[in-house]
Amino acid sequence: MRILILGGTGEATMLAKTAVAQLPQLTVQLSLAGRTQNPQTMASVATRIGGFGGVEGLVDYLRERQVGLVIDATHPFAGKISRNAALAAEQLGIPRLMLVRSPWQSMVGDRWSVVPDLKAAAAAVEQGEGRRVFLTIGRQEVGVFAGLAERWFLMRMIEPAEGAVPEGVVLLDRGPYYLDSELAILKRHAIDLVVSKNSGGPATYAKIEAARQLGLGVVMIDRPAIPESETVETVAGAIDWLRSRV
Ligand code: NAP
Repeated sequence: MRILILGGTGEATMLAKTAVAQLPQLTVQLSLAGRTQNPQTMASVATRIGGFGGVEGLVDYLRERQVGLVIDATHPFAGKISRNAALAAEQLGIPRLMLVRSPWQSMVGDRWSVVPDLKAAAAAVEQGEGRRVFLTIGRQEVGVFAGLAERWFLMRMIEPAEGAVPEGVVLLDRGPYYLDSELAILKRHAIDLVVSKNSGGPATYAKIEAARQLGLGVVMIDRPAIPESETVETVAGAIDWLRSRV
């Protein structure tokens, strides 16, 4: 049976690798959007790169290759592909599972302002007191923060952004990140506000911990709505789901 894993996350990569190793009766195909120039592909996992062409393109892809199962392991903020996958799988009657990390929860000592989306995050930065902002939302949407007066941004992303970039410095790096180095970055750049998506998971959590330790505010962007579906939070849970279907 063929299975399509929609990826772009560490969990998707781990799931694809584990499924290939543990479930040889499956033909595993990992799909990446192609956002980075050097995607981390693996010799053991067949990987395709690039969009499908909307819901219709995805339906054609699934039908032509006779895909029997879909696991959507994309990032919690990749709402469009998740909606497309839900519609395409439903149209063809293909079982679909979502592998989604649970969101981070604030704890004692955190100073979060929770906002619904990026525009609201930019408004929160504009209205807040922080002047030196650590912007950790990736590269695609940094333009939303361009033009905010009297704000300086340290922007972390895997590859340089295209288009308008807020005033500040770009830091090219790929996680996972650790507490010591996150504390050092915040201190070195005299950061007084952090902006983050509520991505969940351990790989990028250290900045939240570091902000807590330094008593910094965090503008925390809530996740977009995702389609209703059977959901697991771990790779092991997704492997169990696959086992129950092959
Ligand atoms: P998105 O807005 O939900 O999707 C935009 C379009 O990109 C989709 O309509 C689809 O194009 C294509 N696409 C997205 N994921 C794909 C995949 N796994 N395989 C093939 N095509 C895909 O997605 P996004 O927020 O731009 O994220 C793009 C990728 O980066 C995703 O794989 C996601 O897991 C990863 N990522 C995103 C974030 C984030 O904050 N958004 C963070 C870390 C990683 P077509 O309509 O042409 O099929």
